[in-house]
Amino acid sequence: MKINEKQQTLLRMLPGVDHILELTKSETFFADIPQTVVVNSIRAAVEAQRHRILKNDSDTSEATLSAAQILEEVKHLTRVAMTPNLTWVINATGIVVHTNLGRSLLAPEAEENLSLIASRYSNLEYNLAIGKRGSRYSSVEDILCEISGAEASMVVNNNAAAVLLCLETIAKNKSVIVSRGELIEIGGSFRIPDVMAKSGGILKEVGTTNRTHLRDYEDAIEASTGLMLKVHCSNYSLIGFTAEVSLQELVELGTKYSIAVMEDLGSGTFIDFSKYGLMKEPTVQESVATGADVITFSGDKLLGGPQAGIIVGKKNIIDDIKRNPLTRALRIDKLTLAGLESTLRLYRDEEKALQCIPTLQMLTATIEEITQKANQLVEKLNDINNSRLHMQLIKLSSKAGGGALPLLEIPSQCVSIKIDGISANSLERYLRKSDPPIIARIEEDYVIMDLRTIQQDEIVIIVSAFENILKRD
Ligand SMILES: *Cc1c(COP(=O)(O)O)cnc(C)c1O
Repeated sequence: MKINEKQQTLLRMLPGVDHILELTKSETFFADIPQTVVVNSIRAAVEAQRHRILKNDSDTSEATLSAAQILEEVKHLTRVAMTPNLTWVINATGIVVHTNLGRSLLAPEAEENLSLIASRYSNLEYNLAIGKRGSRYSSVEDILCEISGAEASMVVNNNAAAVLLCLETIAKNKSVIVSRGELIEIGGSFRIPDVMAKSGGILKEVGTTNRTHLRDYEDAIEASTGLMLKVHCSNYSLIGFTAEVSLQELVELGTKYSIAVMEDLGSGTFIDFSKYGLMKEPTVQESVATGADVITFSGDKLLGGPQAGIIVGKKNIIDDIKRNPLTRALRIDKLTLAGLESTLRLYRDEEKALQCIPTLQMLTATIEEITQKANQLVEKLNDINNSRLHMQLIKLSSKAGGGALPLLEIPSQCVSIKIDGISANSLERYLRKSDPPIIARIEEDYVIMDLRTIQQDEIVIIVSAFENILKRD
């Protein structure tokens, strides 16, 4: 690469790392910052400038190369380096169980217990009654059985782990009968046939894509059959000319041939949402009541707890699962257990659960409650009193998300926002780069804020983010 005269002059002007380092020593901003972070930030800032000069970037001038300017950039890079990568964001998408945004928000009760257990010793694997080693799962076993009606239970890292563990325990080297219509893929590469292969179970598909009958299962039963698996199609729906076999019918067939029956419920809920004007999702209690041997579901989808895979069912099978050496590799940590136990306890009183568990609260919020928040947002944005800012109430739909209630559009109250001179794409990006980041969607030329997933105390933060955007652009 040929370097011209102007570039040579600029390169000579570029301050050295040592020089900038010297300057940081008299700035209180850098007082508590580890030296390696400061030096790395200086190197990166100087290197970025050198790169711009070599690229003939028209923004590079003597002014941008001043030590003071570079020092500002070093401060910015240091700030970024000192901030955790995992950060709180505001979910304005209206998707309640948003897997990319961390799925469920914990109830205050769960958060408190989690933080206590995080900072103290606990009886995680210690039986306080007898003063000896205890079971890691005992804290949640009783409450899970109590609310689900199951004989036994255990928990692992997530539902994918629960499915893998159950298949490996029950059906390794045996054939597992599954309906073709239920060979699903959940986002993030969880596919029933792949998990089956990893578990050592041998997939035996029955029926057709849209219709599977009881006789299809019965005809497929052979000496090597170890399990019949039913998978809840959480993220898609078969409509039209369809037929599926209920869990109840499968359990009866299983009993007749002494074959275990398992259900992967996916989301899993203890609450019948149809009572609250939402679509029916099968509940855990209903699945347990069929007498199925094992049922697995997630802790952080509709349940509204921390990430976990919950297994409930018959005691003899759960005991086998607990003895599987894989459990150690898939085990749940103490923070999750603390959050999960507290969340589960709230389900003893359905009204309390709906009030305290944010996922349930948001899903069952009335349009009046959401409209109240939307009005507040519009009012506060109006108070900014800037003629470039336009907003309007607009009725759109929220989604449950998390592979639950896939077809359900929940009527919601949104605010559509536009700033003259800023495209919707840029506005969306500015909001995403705010602190905390605000995640919104775009429809036509507007940024859409769905108030269903915006928490009350986040409204003022959103307003101040708009104030900052209007100031800078
Ligand atoms: C979501 C889902 C899983 C995976 O659960 P995770 O808790 O995310 O691991 C498995 N099966 C079904 C049917 C699901 O909906």
